[in-house]
Amino acid sequence: MTRSFDDARRWAELGTDLVLEAVAGFDDEAYDAPSGLPGWQRRQLVAHVAANADALGNLVHWAATGEETPMYASPGERAAGIARGLGMPAADLTGWLRRSAAELAASTAGLGDGEWQNQVVTAQGRTVPATELPWMRSREVCVHAVDLDTGITFADLPADFLGALCDDVIAKRAKAPGPALRLTETGTGEVRELPGDGEPTVLTGPLAEITAYLTGRGHTLTAPGGGPVPTLGPWL
Ligand code: ZN
Repeated sequence: MTRSFDDARRWAELGTDLVLEAVAGFDDEAYDAPSGLPGWQRRQLVAHVAANADALGNLVHWAATGEETPMYASPGERAAGIARGLGMPAADLTGWLRRSAAELAASTAGLGDGEWQNQVVTAQGRTVPATELPWMRSREVCVHAVDLDTGITFADLPADFLGALCDDVIAKRAKAPGPALRLTETGTGEVRELPGDGEPTVLTGPLAEITAYLTGRGHTLTAPGGGPVPTLGPWL
């Protein structure tokens, strides 16, 4: 994996801008529309992105002060953040998204070099240095910018981000049972291997489609012979 801290900060900012621009003109009707994620309205997704910024802000606080402030105070708090979007007027929801993003940007900008190295624990229980936080945020905002279903696709995201995301998803998927894959990017010819059961299925396509497939989103990849691609389990 070759992504750097500066890369992740750049992607987090870019993805945040994409989400903010996507919802800029949203009224309640637009927020009530389904997102690209099955079972999710856009308003739930935006509330989740806003709550994620607040939650990551807790980890920034942890890194800055040493006071253990987990992302979510309880197992139900993540779900509560998503549900909060259901009862919120459009202007308030957009306001929450903006405010939470601005506060996270301000708090991360205030972290000193030493504080970035402090260890924090993610909602999944991983202990990581605070330098991982921009990557965690960039994944959320960039992928959910696509999930909002306003016309942004993975092809609109920077190729270096897509490559880093594929590497990240493959590393996670490699720890769980699933099909073996050999993924080749058209254009660059770059190959990624996902270890798994049986002979690897060879799939070739644009990096954006490979990313969409690996992250469990809609994609255009087909197996050799034109059949369906192997089904993948949940990623996160
Ligand atoms: Zn998410």
